[in-house]
Amino acid sequence: MASKRDYYEVLEVQRNAQAEEIKKAYRKIAMKYHPDRNPGDKQAEEKFKEAAEAYEVLSNPEKRAKYDRFGHNAFGPGRGGGDFGGGMNMDDIFSQFGDIFGDSVFGNFFGGGGRSGGRRSRGVRGSNLRVRIKLNYEEIAKGATKTIKVKKYVTCSQCHGNGAKDSNSMQTCHTCGGSGQVRRVQHTFLGQMQTVTTCPECNGEGTTITNKCPQCKGEGRVYGEENITIDIPAGVSEGMQLSMSGKGNMGERGGAPGDLIILIEEEKHPQLQREGNNVAFDLYISFTDAVFGTQTEVPTIDGRAKIKIPAGTQSGKIFRLKGKGFPSLDSHAKGDQLIQVNVWTPQKISDEEKTALESLSHSDNFKPHPDKNEKGFWEKIRETFS
Ligand SMILES: [Zn+2]
Ligand SMILES: [Zn+2]
Repeated sequence: MASKRDYYEVLEVQRNAQAEEIKKAYRKIAMKYHPDRNPGDKQAEEKFKEAAEAYEVLSNPEKRAKYDRFGHNAFGPGRGGGDFGGGMNMDDIFSQFGDIFGDSVFGNFFGGGGRSGGRRSRGVRGSNLRVRIKLNYEEIAKGATKTIKVKKYVTCSQCHGNGAKDSNSMQTCHTCGGSGQVRRVQHTFLGQMQTVTTCPECNGEGTTITNKCPQCKGEGRVYGEENITIDIPAGVSEGMQLSMSGKGNMGERGGAPGDLIILIEEEKHPQLQREGNNVAFDLYISFTDAVFGTQTEVPTIDGRAKIKIPAGTQSGKIFRLKGKGFPSLDSHAKGDQLIQVNVWTPQKISDEEKTALESLSHSDNFKPHPDKNEKGFWEKIRETFS
């Protein structure tokens, strides 16, 4: 096997070249050695492929860094282009072009910026579908698996998606001879160029249908339904979107299916409130419990928890149950549950209660005197959410 040329050398750029320079250099070389301009020239084709491989690596910051450190060995012995398993094929190369040439005039030379190289496309891609899924706090905390019935286009069972009545009802397109593409010679400022466009007769599919499938009327798909099981990770939140590739509407005549987009909705909890990954709960205790201290139970997203209210607890005090909040989607961290104490002031009292309280009202212990350790409301908020 001939030794590989250095990728920077292939593209004729410096080792510290910027992304834009690399792109420009590749564009120039790809133009020069493009097979449509050099029909039958094996050497040009090799150069064309070599440049494509070099660009594939140098245009990707991660691959480029690896290549800079380890050279061709970065991608395994004898593999060279890494994922390409012994060089790129033409489809890979042309699929780069949408990116490189964009909508520029060059894109048109190469068949609409990508669909060149003898690739046929089957049918029309299906559209994406959107569904909403409502989850309660417990499901969000633990993650959930939901199976839902989705109404959508599915592959026609009679023709298996090709839209033809039977195998005799499909024939190779006369216009393009089955390649899905037609070539034309055009005169441009760069000289004579061959352009490749999608065949107008078969829309690039390479085949035409003489007798349509009666069940789907040639569409290759019918409206139906599918049970889809969706795995929802723990820690999602209202408005988040998950996507399942290929679970949307089936395409026409064997075209690829669209995606299923899942929109997450949170079911409100009667007592708890979500604040990011934390959970807030308002606890009401009586004046006497605040004075004497007490044990009580609070709801959490995972059953109930016991908490101890020490004697002399002030209204507004916040207790924290560590790790009792929601899990984070992107780390192992967990939020907390924050419990704010509210001391209940009686709104109706009897004559005896009134007398008892009046006898205490002048006691010095009942007069507020917050000391330096007593934190104000705003300070507590800052501390809790910091
Ligand atoms: Zn059918
Ligand atoms: Zn055709």
